[in-house]
Amino acid sequence: MQVINPATEEIIKDLTEDTQTSIAQKLNQLKKGQALWSQKTIDERLEIIIRFGGLVKANADELAEILTKETGKPITQSKGEVTGSLNRIEHLKSNAKKWLSSEKIASGEVIESITYEPLGVIANISAWNFPYNVGYNVFLYALVAGNAVLYKPSEYASLTGLKFKELLHQAGVPKDVFETVIGAGSVGQHLLEADLDGYYFTGSHKTGVHIATTVAHRLVPVQLELGGKDPLYVMDDVQDINQAAINAAEGAFYNNGQSCCAVERIYVDERIYDEFVAHFVAEVKTYKIGDPMDESTFTGPLTRAQQIDIILNQINEAKSKGAEVILGGDRPDSKGYYLNPTVLTQVTHNMGLMKEESFGPIIGIQKVSTDKEALTLMNDTPYGLTAAVYSSDENRARKLLDQLNVGTVYWNCCDRVSPNTPWSGRKNSGLGSTLSYQGIRSFTQPKSYQMRGL
Ligand code: NDP
Repeated sequence: MQVINPATEEIIKDLTEDTQTSIAQKLNQLKKGQALWSQKTIDERLEIIIRFGGLVKANADELAEILTKETGKPITQSKGEVTGSLNRIEHLKSNAKKWLSSEKIASGEVIESITYEPLGVIANISAWNFPYNVGYNVFLYALVAGNAVLYKPSEYASLTGLKFKELLHQAGVPKDVFETVIGAGSVGQHLLEADLDGYYFTGSHKTGVHIATTVAHRLVPVQLELGGKDPLYVMDDVQDINQAAINAAEGAFYNNGQSCCAVERIYVDERIYDEFVAHFVAEVKTYKIGDPMDESTFTGPLTRAQQIDIILNQINEAKSKGAEVILGGDRPDSKGYYLNPTVLTQVTHNMGLMKEESFGPIIGIQKVSTDKEALTLMNDTPYGLTAAVYSSDENRARKLLDQLNVGTVYWNCCDRVSPNTPWSGRKNSGLGSTLSYQGIRSFTQPKSYQMRGL
């Protein structure tokens, strides 16, 4: 398998893909390793994960460079992810013991308690856009809970996946407790046929449904963190329209819009619409597009070449239905998978741009006249990951946030994930939760003890 730098289109590495046989061998080893790993105390396992965090910190520059070279993520954003994602380890440090320890529930004639046992060996099939954040949400939490992990990085983040393995082993995770599976979707398919004890997937709705239906007959836990079409609504009472526009633009264009919770569509009250759009476009014009290794670059190439056509098709379809491209809409004349940040107005919900995940540097801004209209449009999507409202009135914003059918709502912020609250999608955005105490328990199965002395 070739690893290609999306900024230069050059091959940076050739990797050997796993096969059904190598996966079976790895799984066999992991089953043996897990039995011993689960006998360690939570504190012992945590200590190793904390040591892993230390190694990541010590090697942050090198790790960020690897991430930038294989995904095209601008280097400052790669550094931000490598160090920012360590907050998952802080969260585990403060909370894992509390939520994984056994609980005494009743102490009458029959003593009742619950223990949280690991599942066994789980598959972590992961995405490339934030491999640290979404990887850690699964494999670090699973390891601390006493599971072994077979980790399949996306083919577009394989070098980062191999670094995870190297540093976890260096930190003290036994070799037969964490293993990688290298290869594309066809190699991932072998995992669905293997005898794993749970499937934790981050990626597209289409692949998520395929995984869930393929392994359904085995009745093992399946958790899906999928895509979104996340809306942001700016009410007319927002105090600082410029600041709201700056935030919204960053939410839409950070990592080139390749975030599961990127702002994918914007609604603005008609009374402030023109002013908001002017500030928004002015902000996006300041984004420097170019070499992702350059510290001043905000917009690098897309990670996957094939996404360019998906986005250009959305632009063309929207234009044919009356949308106006007020910024971008084309590709710079250079090597690499670049697309100029694109802003469209005069958009409606009969355009794919406002309904289907774009996953790129493109945004439609639609005018609305009431909160009710905004709410209807925000909920008019098969997805349900996040939604944001900008307003100076918390109660007014809250009234709307309460009625949104999504896993996470934001007031005057957007495109953010916290380890303290559950990360979960509704509808086509997923099933189950990572992070928070729910995410800590996601990798366990409860056992109920009912004990009576005779
Ligand atoms: P994909 O669904 O294309 O791939 C995700 C993973 O599944 C990759 O490792 C991929 O391998 C693997 N895969 C593909 N086909 C199969 C198969 N048949 N069996 C097993 N595994 C398979 O998603 P992307 O990598 O393109 O990720 C982008 C998507 O992920 C977006 O929709 C985004 O919104 C979503 N996402 C959701 C997050 C959330 O927390 N809700 C967070 C991050 C992203 P390979 O890449 O090698 O083909």
